[in-house]
Amino acid sequence: MDLGLQNKTVVVTGGSSGIGLATVRAFLADGANVALCARGADRLTEASDALQAEFGAARVFSSAFSVLDEDAVQAFVEATEARFGGCDALVTNAGQGRVSTFAETTDAAWREELDLKFFSQLYPIRAFEPLLRKSASGAIVAVNSLLAYQPEPHMVCTSAARAGVQNLLKSLASEFAPDIRVNSILLGLVDSNQWQKRFEARDDASQSREDWFADLARKKNIPLGRLGQAEEAARALVFLASPAASYITGARLEISGGVSRFS
Ligand code: NDP
Repeated sequence: MDLGLQNKTVVVTGGSSGIGLATVRAFLADGANVALCARGADRLTEASDALQAEFGAARVFSSAFSVLDEDAVQAFVEATEARFGGCDALVTNAGQGRVSTFAETTDAAWREELDLKFFSQLYPIRAFEPLLRKSASGAIVAVNSLLAYQPEPHMVCTSAARAGVQNLLKSLASEFAPDIRVNSILLGLVDSNQWQKRFEARDDASQSREDWFADLARKKNIPLGRLGQAEEAARALVFLASPAASYITGARLEISGGVSRFS
């Protein structure tokens, strides 16, 4: 299927690693130009150099900053427009989860988490909105989590923040229609940097990576029997961001191996 991404411009936040990097690669493979950002300059440059070597320097633009820095986000919009002439789709992916129960979560941690989850959406969406409105196929796809509907007691503030973000996205889908489509993916467990770090901090250092991940999938009762791969999340993001998804807005797509318990 032709997704209609040839010569489109797509922005991916948090594009230097994991799901974001796989998504950037998938967009490039489908013919789009990509602007990506992340905080860590070294890892971003390494990713960007490899992508430029594979897909051509003219099609990849990267900039190192935090999406929580509103001025830096605005400068990124201007640089993206100068480089590619506009923006057709925005994938808001940057972020990370916070592991803590209600008892452990301080007020400062609540504020930090709510700030990250909301403003990692709000700043890029607000800043790119004018360019997306000018596109004939403007689209936003947010990376969110099943935790929005299925909270886990050990990730209490992340879960609550994700529920709020999902609600916000529904409002935006109405407010931005018919000019910009707004959709989300709800992730279960995807093998990436975040899970690699938890594997490295495992209790039993003798347990192999394969066994640790297989054990995790069993404990979480994932019907497909394994964690997802970053590329599997990326394919869903690319589809929802593309003109091929032209009649889809306000929707959420689960990428979870069937682990959700809500309908
Ligand atoms: P990774 O840690 O591999 O990737 C996260 C990316 O976001 C990196 O490029 C990171 O780079 C960047 N990033 C983080 N914070 C910021 C920031 N403030 N500003 C700009 N860039 C930032 O994790 P994943 O690929 O797993 O995660 C991608 C998204 O999916 C995250 O939002 C995560 O919370 C969400 N998610 C992942 C799940 C999973 O199972 N993997 C489950 C549910 C949700 P740098 O650190 O250099 O800034």
